[in-house]
Amino acid sequence: MNESRYTEMLDALLEKLPEKSATEERFRIPRPVLGYEGRRSIIVNFKEITKALRRDPKLMTTFLSKEVAAPGVYDEPRLIVQARLDMRTLQSVLEKFLRKYVICPACGGPDTQLTRVKRILTLKCDVCGTETSAEAM
Ligand SMILES: [Zn+2]
Repeated sequence: MNESRYTEMLDALLEKLPEKSATEERFRIPRPVLGYEGRRSIIVNFKEITKALRRDPKLMTTFLSKEVAAPGVYDEPRLIVQARLDMRTLQSVLEKFLRKYVICPACGGPDTQLTRVKRILTLKCDVCGTETSAEAM
C-alpha cells in the first residue's frame, strides 16, 4: 500500500469518530494569559475566557476568589487577584468551574445556561434539556 492511500484511509477513519470528541475539541478553555504586578496576579484575557464559557464574569470572579482564597476584582477585560497564582492552579480552578457550572451532567455537552435566582444556581442544557441545581457559591 502506498503512503497516500494509507493517509486517505486514516482520514476516512477519523471522520467516523463520534461527535463527542468534536464537541470537546471545540470546547477548550482559552489558555489563560497570566501576568504579575507585585504580589498580584493578572489574568489578562479573563473576559475572553468568560465569553468562551458563556458565563457572567462576576460569577466567575466570585468562584475563582473563593477557590484560591484571595480577593479578586474584575477590571474588564482583566481579572486582578490579590495573590500569586501559578498557571497550574489557575487552570485547575478553571477546569473545576467548567465541570461544576458549564458541562451538562447528563450528556456532557457544554451548551448550557446557568441562571441564578437569589442564591440558587440552576444549570440547564440547551441540547438535552436536563436541569440540575448547581452548588451555591
Ligand atoms: Zn445535556
